[in-house]
Amino acid sequence: MYDLIVIGGGPAGASAAREGARLGLRVLLIEKERFPRYKPCGGALSERARSYLGFRIPDEVIDAEISRLRIFFRDRCAEISRSERLSTLVTRSVFDEMLLRRAEDAGAEVLLGRRAKEISERGEYVRIRAGDTYEGRILVIADGHTGVLSRKIRPRDAMTGMCLVTEVSAENSSDRMEIHFGEAYMGYAWVFPHGSYLSVGAGGLRSSNIRGTMERLMNSRGFRGKIHGHTIPLSGPSGYIAGRRTMLCGDSAGMVDPFTGEGIAYALRSGQIAAEVASEHLTEGCDIVEYQRRCKNEFGDDLRASFLLARIMHRFPDQLFNMFMDDRSLLERYIDIHAHGLSYRSFLRWLAPRAPAKLIASVISKMV
Ligand SMILES: Cc1cc2nc3c(=O)[nH]c(=O)nc-3n(C[C@H](O)[C@H](O)[C@H](O)COP(=O)(O)OP(=O)(O)OC[C@H]3O[C@@H](n4cnc5c(N)ncnc54)[C@H](O)[C@@H]3O)c2cc1C
Repeated sequence: MYDLIVIGGGPAGASAAREGARLGLRVLLIEKERFPRYKPCGGALSERARSYLGFRIPDEVIDAEISRLRIFFRDRCAEISRSERLSTLVTRSVFDEMLLRRAEDAGAEVLLGRRAKEISERGEYVRIRAGDTYEGRILVIADGHTGVLSRKIRPRDAMTGMCLVTEVSAENSSDRMEIHFGEAYMGYAWVFPHGSYLSVGAGGLRSSNIRGTMERLMNSRGFRGKIHGHTIPLSGPSGYIAGRRTMLCGDSAGMVDPFTGEGIAYALRSGQIAAEVASEHLTEGCDIVEYQRRCKNEFGDDLRASFLLARIMHRFPDQLFNMFMDDRSLLERYIDIHAHGLSYRSFLRWLAPRAPAKLIASVISKMV
């Protein structure tokens, strides 16, 4: 009998398994793919994500560290240049394998190439069928946004996004990330420099024309490459993410920043919180539902604030993105969310009194 069984070996699952093992639990992680596996992703780690890791990322796992950014709104461009690092770029196949090895090093047992198919709760434990049958006292499901098992527990997100991405070999390595707003509803297009290649992508609300956005970007720059797609949750964490002995982590729980699409940080942290609650449950009888409360307090409410920001910005793009392009201090303050861990709620509180009265009047007149 395991103390903790984790389904899914992405950042959320690997993080839960590592933390669980570090806390002295007997942990089994079940992952359907064999690693390293390709994962469609921009591969951008925020400072928040790095701080959650709790160890230094080995140099060979880092493609680039970036302190310069170009933000576009249609044909307008603003350059951000900071003395500190704004983002770390990694290749997900390499990064995710490294996380999984860390979980193993901490003492977790890892089963690759095994799809978990069936879960049944039996009084004091959970039984999982994944080829063979495994039993554990607590279950973490971290099977990503398209995971079939988490879908049975948590209803679909109110808003689902689609992201398309390709990797294009880079002749001249750039030191700037590019973000293009105004191209996709509830999203943006990007070009991220990973040293030897560029991650080129577009994401936004699934029902908007993301493929068209992607094709425009590719054609305008002469990029060619095989395009991969994947859905992401866009409405922030909501609904049921913890039960009697089961917790959902990462994308399967909707833990993605709706404005930026950043999910790795919240996957890492939710995995750790799940392991902490599992350990407290087994030693002190702490209620598993505590997991939901801790996630909400630590970042859930803030992701809801990001959702609000995204909804407003994309509802009135001409007024609001132009306001950011006109006023450097707004843009710099927004960047502090990613560079210094400023919360979305603090940002919105700071922003509200600075928005010109005329703009607020125009936004309100369109809403009512
Ligand atoms: C195109 C794109 C670009 C993105 N760019 C960024 C970015 O630049 N920065 C950022 O922070 N976030 C980005 N994201 C979001 C980020 O990729 C996710 O938030 C993150 O991967 C979530 O981690 P996770 O562990 O919850 O899920 P995943 O990484 O999806 O891992 C889930 C794992 O579960 C396994 N699995 C599923 N079902 C089963 C089963 N039944 N049995 C066993 N195993 C199973 C899968 O094989 C997979 O390995 C991007 C997303 C997309 C789609």
